[in-house]
Amino acid sequence: MTAKTVPVDSFDLVIFGGTGDLALRKLLPGLLRRYADGQIPQDSRIIGVARDRQNGAEYRARIGEALEKITEAEPLLRARLPAFLQLLDYRPLDATREEGWEEFGELLKTTGPDRIRVFYLSTSPNLFVDLCSRLRDAGLNTGNARVVVEKPIGRDSASAAAINDAVGAAFAEHQTFRIDHYLGKETVQNLLALRFANILFEPLWNAGRIDHVQITVAETVGLEKRAGYYDSSGALRDMVQNHLLQLLCMVAMEPPATLQADALRDEKLKVLRSLKPITATEVSHVTVRGQYRAGASGGAAVPGYLDELGRPDSRTETFVAIKAEVANWRWAGAPFYLRTGKRLPERVSEIVVAFRPVPHSIFDASAGPAQPNRLVLRLQPDEGVKLWLMIKDPGPGGLRMKYVPLDMSFAEAFGVHQPEAYERLLMDVVRGNQSLFMRRDEVEAAWAWIDPILEAWEQLPEAPKPYTAGSWGPNAAVALIERDGRTWHEDTGT
Ligand code: NAP
Repeated sequence: MTAKTVPVDSFDLVIFGGTGDLALRKLLPGLLRRYADGQIPQDSRIIGVARDRQNGAEYRARIGEALEKITEAEPLLRARLPAFLQLLDYRPLDATREEGWEEFGELLKTTGPDRIRVFYLSTSPNLFVDLCSRLRDAGLNTGNARVVVEKPIGRDSASAAAINDAVGAAFAEHQTFRIDHYLGKETVQNLLALRFANILFEPLWNAGRIDHVQITVAETVGLEKRAGYYDSSGALRDMVQNHLLQLLCMVAMEPPATLQADALRDEKLKVLRSLKPITATEVSHVTVRGQYRAGASGGAAVPGYLDELGRPDSRTETFVAIKAEVANWRWAGAPFYLRTGKRLPERVSEIVVAFRPVPHSIFDASAGPAQPNRLVLRLQPDEGVKLWLMIKDPGPGGLRMKYVPLDMSFAEAFGVHQPEAYERLLMDVVRGNQSLFMRRDEVEAAWAWIDPILEAWEQLPEAPKPYTAGSWGPNAAVALIERDGRTWHEDTGT
């Protein structure tokens, strides 16, 4: 069974960085899927741009080859590939040079000024300023144009403001789509549905009933091909500032009046502004920085971060754990423990809402302990929602308790293809729906909370704490939560 899809209007989508990793692994496969589902009209155009000199036919052949590999196990998708490739074209352009932009403008203008034009900036962020000013100079920032900005948006408040100013000089805020693909995940939508389409959870959704929340985004990979970028960034900038804080907002925000983009984003902004600042004096107590040493991943020995990087002196953190507090009426007293890192034992992203224990147990000790309820929202690898409950262990004999998950992963149960985050987000951009994209003030509020942590870390004499590749980070991360009488969630299966 496939979910119902509503076709979007015809559009021109320009992928700056159309030969890059993101375009090949996420954007073009996502577009192919939407096309195969009948959501993209045949007269739409997808134009790849990069410096590489090649023509449209060569680009189609190159992309076709890459997509063939991806669609190997999906004959229906493969069958639609030749028609999809007809939508593709290519123009060689250098963001930093004048040549070619006029002809490029002419190519786009053939579909008229009212055409939906999407400019996806899938290049290194240091090209965003050039690209936006060239698009403006070429008169391509028309009313129906939208620009998609990939992360990272800056490395602190000041650099984020500079990027936002440059984008803002060419495109209005309602045309600017700052992407955080975590927001496009099915489970995040499900969190909205669970919270705001049911009466059950909302009365319990506060520090009076919720003990704490955990947000984990764990990767098994090391540096891959991103060494230069990653070493200048680190886990706090690369993951916490955007993905983890956005997830925190979705859990913590007040019910928005509607699902309109600004109603939702106003509520997320309030959460970001309620985050209790972490001062230099407490930074060592409520944050943990780690860096992996040699160990094992997926059964194979892997080198440590410094060896992988080829620099013995880097103090960049590849792991971070933070005890964050949302200082408002709803959440005071229920901390949010955030944890992310590379070379951890599993690739998993999940939100755990840990409820408080029952106030009094009526059961004998022989029934076993009553464990507090937990709502676990898994974003990857297997998207789904589980509500952990106590039930009576079925069968004869005395009354014994059992802790079991109520599995609410309905999409899988109904055999529905769960769209990849980029699929949904790309179609939202074409529709002009900004609900799942970050507004400028959100990005800046997130940096305003992150900046003092970065500054405080800079002042610390000690380097990030070492952890063995394949472990769950430094021991200090376990101590961070256990000091409060809590533990990191472990899925004990069914
Ligand atoms: P990438 O593989 O390095 O690709 C960069 C692309 O930009 C290439 O197509 C490159 O082609 C083109 N390019 C470089 N310099 C150019 C110039 N002067 N003018 C025009 N095009 C130029 O990078 P990526 O991994 O796809 O990442 C793209 C963006 O997405 C980055 O901002 C990254 O932070 C973000 N992002 C990526 C991922 C991911 O999974 N890859 C995830 C999240 C965010 P030529 O060299 O031929 O010009």
